[in-house]
Amino acid sequence: MKEKYNFSEIEKKWQKFWEENKTYSAVRNDSKEKYYLLEMFPYPSGNLHMGHVRNYSIGDVIARFKRMKNMNVLHPIGWDSFGLPAENAAIKHQVAPAKWTRENIENMKKQLKMCGFSYDWDREIATIDQDYYKWEQKLFIEMYKKGLVYKKSSNVNWCDNCNTVLANEQVNDNQCWRCDGEVRQKELEQWFYKITDYADELLEFTDKLKGWPVRVLTQQKNWIGKSYGVTAKFKLKSDETKALEIYTTRADTIMGVTFVSVAKEHALIDDLIKNSENKEEILNFIEEIKKDNNDPKEIEKNEKKGIFTGSYVIHPITKEEIPVYIANFVLASYGTGAVMAVPAHDQRDFEFAKKYNIKIKEVIKSKENKDIDIEDYKEAFVEKGVLVNSDIFDGLKSKEAINKIAFWLKEHNLGEKSVQYKLRDWGISRQRYWGAPIPMIYQDDKVFPEKIENLPVVLPTEVEYKISSGNLLDTLEDFINIEVDGKSAKRETDTFDTFNESSWYYARYTSPKFKGDIIDSKEANYWLPVDQYIGGIEHAVMHLLYARFFHKVLRDFGYLNSDEPFTNLLTQGMVTKEHNGRAVKMSKSLGNTVDPNEIIANFGADTARLFILFAAPPERELDWSDAGVEGSFRFLNRVFRLVDQFAEELQTVDTNFKVETEEEKDLLYILNHTIKKVTEDIGDRFTFNTAISSIMEMVNEIYKYKEKENINKQLLKHIIENLILVLSPFTPHICEEMWQMIGKTGDLASISWPTYDEKALVRDTVEIVVQLNGKVKEKLMVENNMDKATFEKTVLENEKIQKLLENKEIIKVIAVPNKLLNVVVK
Ligand SMILES: [Zn+2]
Repeated sequence: MKEKYNFSEIEKKWQKFWEENKTYSAVRNDSKEKYYLLEMFPYPSGNLHMGHVRNYSIGDVIARFKRMKNMNVLHPIGWDSFGLPAENAAIKHQVAPAKWTRENIENMKKQLKMCGFSYDWDREIATIDQDYYKWEQKLFIEMYKKGLVYKKSSNVNWCDNCNTVLANEQVNDNQCWRCDGEVRQKELEQWFYKITDYADELLEFTDKLKGWPVRVLTQQKNWIGKSYGVTAKFKLKSDETKALEIYTTRADTIMGVTFVSVAKEHALIDDLIKNSENKEEILNFIEEIKKDNNDPKEIEKNEKKGIFTGSYVIHPITKEEIPVYIANFVLASYGTGAVMAVPAHDQRDFEFAKKYNIKIKEVIKSKENKDIDIEDYKEAFVEKGVLVNSDIFDGLKSKEAINKIAFWLKEHNLGEKSVQYKLRDWGISRQRYWGAPIPMIYQDDKVFPEKIENLPVVLPTEVEYKISSGNLLDTLEDFINIEVDGKSAKRETDTFDTFNESSWYYARYTSPKFKGDIIDSKEANYWLPVDQYIGGIEHAVMHLLYARFFHKVLRDFGYLNSDEPFTNLLTQGMVTKEHNGRAVKMSKSLGNTVDPNEIIANFGADTARLFILFAAPPERELDWSDAGVEGSFRFLNRVFRLVDQFAEELQTVDTNFKVETEEEKDLLYILNHTIKKVTEDIGDRFTFNTAISSIMEMVNEIYKYKEKENINKQLLKHIIENLILVLSPFTPHICEEMWQMIGKTGDLASISWPTYDEKALVRDTVEIVVQLNGKVKEKLMVENNMDKATFEKTVLENEKIQKLLENKEIIKVIAVPNKLLNVVVK
């Protein structure tokens, strides 16, 4: 033994080599099959955490494997670097957000390099770079000119802590996704992207994304929320030129409407309450329900509350007068802001009608409710059935009734069939300093975009951060006050939602330094779509939906020719660690984190990677185990010692081996079996854990073999070469080193992935089991591929089996060649 496994020296050496030789730089090559691998880029919080290391280790294995499979691999990295934490740090530490962010990027970059990830660092992007956000400002202006951007005043989710607007997707349980602070409604002027123009295509393509996890697609489908229904007009009794428009997917129950509920912000609210005797009480009620949880996802959990407006509408078919209520469960931002209420057939309406003593009218009968009188209803009957008490529609089944009623309404100009979506337009204005400026200008009563040639609208970064809340940009007079055509004008001070930057970065990576336009189409069309995207399940709707939207916009504007950004998606599981006896997500607040720096310092990056990849399949949770880390370290030491022991000797032998003995045959079989297993585990299933465990088994077999006398050095060399190759995607540094130790030159990225020999996988003998009455009694080695009769005869004539069957009467024999023989005896 000459060398000790000096991981620290080895890892530094190879990281330097890769960097100096630009080993992983990707160049378009039309003659080579491309493979674009991407992990969701990090927010530069300052330090890499284990979740990052896991995410990027998974990606790195695939990248290294595909390179060795001779594909042209693009594997970039960058920084999603705008956003609130920088501003919070600015307030806390009195440091400019730009400085804080740049320092964090440098620190994390160092850490990523220490992990040995095979990135093309020449393509590094930071979204805070002017060269980056200039192009999203241009895209915004193009979208504005094509009608995909508009400004409107609306009720928005507002977080007082963060002092900013939140998208619906950023509100959970009425709490801010960033700070968990309470979210309230506030009326604000906002810029919006018309993502709803793409609702149908976004939905349609969810069925074409075969490489995405079903649960992500389901979340997207639900979020888009397409439904088929009917709209109907209920005219105001007081003024028949005005009407409440309702949307329903259950038009078959329209004859059972006994009241209509409206949202507190409904456009006709003033008309509805103006004649009420208790207007004061109504206004108080509206104020009261503003304090409720108005998160659309949570609204059903509120106690149902309402108040009569004092107004009636006319039922479009029966012409009955229907009372109108304001209800806290109707939202103006969803549907039309008015809902027809059918208490007999809708549970929410049923509860409301009981509470406020409103008439309940039954219009649907079926097997399940045929013997129940309406007075005896304990809850609404929500199933479909046959219409009753419905005048001309009596006797129709629900489905045909919907069609007939829609037709009737259309004929009388009182409604029609309609498709609706839950998806709302994407509000992108943020009242924050640390974001890319929205390139709009106000002058007199006009609002217009900055000229393209004047882009980027630069965010001032040399600032003193003196305020503790609000938007610093509002205080920067030099930024705000400009001159356009000799007249004074003001800049928009809202900045983009940071999801804006992450919606197209994957496309910019294909031509990160391109000065001519948003992206270089030639590069983008070669590399895109991303073949494999890896990231957290928490991005199922926001980021992954917005990126799909941007991709389609870029396509429609002629920058791209593909329909979708990500062909395959892998959502990796969390990294957990024991806390109070339970495996919970690593978090600073719980104090159960493990610092990647520490693991790398003590064991090396290869050990950290090996442990992370071995401990669990990528999509599952990974429970941290110190013993597991030590086990991985011991394994790498064992491999290193093995290679070191023969390194010098093997440099002078060739690999023109011949196998003669059974042991040699066995070893060759194991090698081919391992290559096959690792190839399929990485390439088809991403089950790195089972790939690694088969490599470990092979190492055990090599250890056993090397103790034998007269070992076949040529075979051993062949085996060790291949061992290094199959292990290299997981632990690249040690493998580069061992490759050199056995006399090889060149880096492993330029070596082809080993192939296995199918013939070597066919063995002369196989192990089979022998059962008596279904119970395993014996295992035997027999000749491979015998026909059924020979197999049965051979096994039954075996000495051990003869003994087993002594004094027993054979009733039946079930033979499965190469596998088992079951003897049924008395
Ligand atoms: Zn917040």
